[in-house]
Amino acid sequence: MATLRQEALSLVQGRTRRSATPPSNKISDYFGVNTFNDAQMRQSLAPSVYKKVVEAIEKGTKIDTATAEEVASAVKTWAISKGVTHYTHWFQPLTGSTAEKHDSFFDALSGMERFKGSTLVQQEPDASSFPNGGIRSTFEARGYTAWDPSSPIFIFENTLCIPTIFVSYTGEALDYKTPLLKSMDAVNAAAVKVCQLFDRNVKKVQPSLGVEQEYFVVDKALFAARPDLVMAGRTVYGHNPARGQQLDDHYFGSIPTRVKDFMFEFEIEALKLGIPVSTRHNEVAPGQFEVAPLFEEINKATDHNQLLMDVMEKVAEKHDLKVLLHEKPFAGLNGSGKHNNWSLITDTGVNLFQPSSSARENLQFLTFLVATVKAVHDNADLLRASIASAGNDYRLGANEAPPAIISTFLGETLTEVLDELEKNGNIKIEKGDNMYMKLGIAKIPEIILDNTDRNRTSPFAFTGNKFEFRAVGSQANVAGPMTALNVIVADTLSQMSDDIEKEMSKGKDKKIAVVNVLRKYITESKAVRFEGDGYSEEWEKEAEKRGLSNLKSTPEALDVYTTKKIKDLFTKHKVMNEVELHARHEIMLENFIMKVQIESRVMGDLGLNHIIPTAILYQNKLIQNAKGMQSLGLDNSAAVETIKEVSKHIEALKTNITSMIDTRRKLNTDEDIARKAKGYQTLVKEGFFEKIRYAADKLELLVDDESWPLVKYRELLFIR
Ligand code: ADP
Ligand code: MG
Repeated sequence: MATLRQEALSLVQGRTRRSATPPSNKISDYFGVNTFNDAQMRQSLAPSVYKKVVEAIEKGTKIDTATAEEVASAVKTWAISKGVTHYTHWFQPLTGSTAEKHDSFFDALSGMERFKGSTLVQQEPDASSFPNGGIRSTFEARGYTAWDPSSPIFIFENTLCIPTIFVSYTGEALDYKTPLLKSMDAVNAAAVKVCQLFDRNVKKVQPSLGVEQEYFVVDKALFAARPDLVMAGRTVYGHNPARGQQLDDHYFGSIPTRVKDFMFEFEIEALKLGIPVSTRHNEVAPGQFEVAPLFEEINKATDHNQLLMDVMEKVAEKHDLKVLLHEKPFAGLNGSGKHNNWSLITDTGVNLFQPSSSARENLQFLTFLVATVKAVHDNADLLRASIASAGNDYRLGANEAPPAIISTFLGETLTEVLDELEKNGNIKIEKGDNMYMKLGIAKIPEIILDNTDRNRTSPFAFTGNKFEFRAVGSQANVAGPMTALNVIVADTLSQMSDDIEKEMSKGKDKKIAVVNVLRKYITESKAVRFEGDGYSEEWEKEAEKRGLSNLKSTPEALDVYTTKKIKDLFTKHKVMNEVELHARHEIMLENFIMKVQIESRVMGDLGLNHIIPTAILYQNKLIQNAKGMQSLGLDNSAAVETIKEVSKHIEALKTNITSMIDTRRKLNTDEDIARKAKGYQTLVKEGFFEKIRYAADKLELLVDDESWPLVKYRELLFIR
């Protein structure tokens, strides 16, 4: 009987292409057609209603009942005209994916399609099975979703989706979006205050975000024949293929046809949803790719990234492909991340991280740059925790991946400028002096973008006019790390305002006051700046000398959420209260435990049910062969040698799996969730995963290819 693997391989041989046709040759003809966007609102709402909605979006004002009624009615008409029958509140619970519950517009009682303003604005989903970290059991079982008008309503697969936040009856956030929105307010308030030192016209500052999304693509049949990919999202076994990424021939290479067809189609769907996808290319590992949209206001960009992952998965099905969003689907090959390109932009249209030709503006630029570096320095552990997950642990701090040290890269030019500022700390500036010249600020070239050296090994790099937080995991909801980043920058900026004011109250000129504070911050945050190879061993040593943390695993990294410093930070800026923080900490620990547990089980099951039986059959064949040779008086020592080797690995697999199961069983009785998570890390994962995998991968090399049950790496990566 053919194995599932062989069946899958022959299915792949028969695949045909699927080519999508775009609605028009011009993207501008269909960009955003499936969204109730600004143009659509203008068209279908009375001017007075439209004005109120825009106000709600821009100023966060409340939408009154009458307005909600009007919007609901217009949205319903628009949706029905596009063949939509159902609506849903679309939200982002702490599971990491999105949630929706569809309701029909059709009301059988009245025999009419209905959609009320109150339904648009608020819903009460039966949400008792979403993670809540104890919030709901202590308070009240209900949860509410509430319309977030700042993110456009959209149609996805014939359902009207209303972006919402998700909170408990008592107002605690149960989702990713609520703290993100609050962190936007925090950074806005703090940044506006600093901007006002330079330009009184600035009234609002918004973070913007462009998310580069990395992913792997494999054939659907091959995927289905790998229970570990199906269950855990990553391969727990698999010997490295002869050819991996060592030829460096995949990055930016020509995109394989089936994958290109897939990209083309998901891009069309994304564009219809108003997701401004713009870049596609091969990534470093074979089978790995990237998609990036143009940056947007951070709230929209977050929704769009969540939606994009959904769209990609749905469209992949149509192409008989499977998208792997896991951070490390394949050992020995590059992992996947989301590069979060982040900046702050004023309502006067200035990107605060864009250097300019004017020295005065560059002082403002340096202020925001230094504030961000200082924020990263002072809160590196929070940033590390914000990207911690079982999946990302394979990418950060594991044997082959970059270390889990948070540092920031600025490039040669800016490093020189900051060094000079620091060095010239004692320069006296007299009236009439050109302060900028004296301090070297005048030297910042207009377009750093072109001469910024790119450092691909930095977890948090300045890339010309924005920071790029690269250590974010590929399946993560970016709202988590972006909330953390907004809060820490808000905190440093507000501290900075206070410090500048203090200097000014001592009679210092405003500019001098700013520069003095910058100098101080530069010195204080110097340790977090690193320009070298972030993947090297020397860096781990150097970072340790500098006193930077290197928190290698999620349970270790998450401890920061229990510190007073973090509680004060989040409560001070009204982003999360203690209950919410505590809940999140629990949920993340729980999630980690479950992920490692699933992997551990999959390892056990595959080892016991697939690999050992196959290896024993092969072992029997070898025994027959050895006996036969002996009966003919031939030298059978090679065969006997192989039998011994196979037996050794079978034995190792079996005993280690048995002990791992035992260890799990003991750990599962632990009520202390933080200790349990650490146990899963050190006793289960570090204790057994490698040993078990080593034995299985050795057997893969020994057992005859034809009877091996699991699709091999070379097949997963190169056949499509
Ligand atoms: P790469 O980092 O691969 O060289 P780019 O620098 O061109 O690519 O852009 C990567 C992402 O950064 C894109 O999503 C782009 O829209 C986004 N981006 C560019 N400018 C900004 C900005 N000011 N704020 C946030 N994101 C930005
Ligand atoms: Mg990039």
